[in-house]
Amino acid sequence: MPKVRRDTFLDRGPEVMDFLREQTPTRFAWVPEYADYLPEQPGGRVRGRSVEPVPMDASFLDDELGRLTKPYTKAPANLIVTQADFRKISPGLRTLRGPVTMVRVLVKRIISGLRRQRMYAMGNAIVIGLRQGLIDHGVDVHYGTPPVGLVTEEGRVVGVSVMRDGVRSTIRATRGVILGSGGFESNRELREKFLPQPTDASWTTGAASNTGGGHEAGIAIGAATDLMDDARVGTDDPAAQRTVVLLGRAQPAGLDHRQRRRPAVHERGAALRRGHQGDLRGPCDGAQRRTRLGW
Ligand SMILES: Cc1cc2nc3c(=O)[nH]c(=O)nc-3n(C[C@H](O)[C@H](O)[C@H](O)COP(=O)(O)OP(=O)(O)OC[C@H]3O[C@@H](n4cnc5c(N)ncnc54)[C@H](O)[C@@H]3O)c2cc1C
Repeated sequence: MPKVRRDTFLDRGPEVMDFLREQTPTRFAWVPEYADYLPEQPGGRVRGRSVEPVPMDASFLDDELGRLTKPYTKAPANLIVTQADFRKISPGLRTLRGPVTMVRVLVKRIISGLRRQRMYAMGNAIVIGLRQGLIDHGVDVHYGTPPVGLVTEEGRVVGVSVMRDGVRSTIRATRGVILGSGGFESNRELREKFLPQPTDASWTTGAASNTGGGHEAGIAIGAATDLMDDARVGTDDPAAQRTVVLLGRAQPAGLDHRQRRRPAVHERGAALRRGHQGDLRGPCDGAQRRTRLGW
């Protein structure tokens, strides 16, 4: 990762958090003891610095809630389990705070049920807040309007060509066009071209709608690309289809005994390092034989 990007992230990150706090209803809280990816590196923190959204009652979003993508791991019975809760619950009955946290989660669920609240946490709570922020500021959102190309004039991008109800039209930009279409995790051709083999468009927990449309539109007009061969790689648990094992930071160096014959070490950062090196053979071979691209 180029230094300029890392420095920009550190310098401007707090500004982004202030912006979100001012412009959206989402609030964030620290996830204590959720280790950095590479805490052993200079400046790394074993106690972590991740923040996550505070669970919120999103009744205010009403019908728009139907558009939310379901969380990729959903707790049963609509229980709201935050990352901070998960960290305490994941050791199961081996610690006292596991069952205590579970009871607390259950009690909260009963109370929110009685209050008829529609509670959301994690990524959903971020997206709900962002959506409400757009509504509050009168920003138009066009659903079902895929971009089919960028419009250029005199070497400058001046708009986007889109399909709406089967009709092609142009949205002209007043100041600039920002491509925010995520990664290309669901695009087989781009994965085969840029990522280590084998690869498969279904090996992802990212948005199924991330088909690389933004990348293709940019490449089509000669835009430069960078870091296309890099990805956040996770391991999947063969016992739980499509579940990337996420315990690495919650239980750094923990031993997973769910696969009794082949326990897996959740070495923090291992998957990241191996992924960046283009090595997809399995960061912690053993239970997790197949390594898949996470996001
Ligand atoms: C399971 C999982 C856990 C994660 N956990 C964390 C975490 O704890 N902390 C953290 O910081 N990050 C985490 N991440 C990473 C984080 O979610 C992503 O880095 C972030 O969402 C990327 O934001 P984005 O806006 O670039 O893309 P996305 O959030 O992927 O959004 C892209 C959007 O563009 C839309 N789109 C794509 N193609 C088109 C098209 N052609 N036309 C129209 N729309 C299109 C998609 O529908 C999507 O809504 C996690 C990711 C996953 C998958």
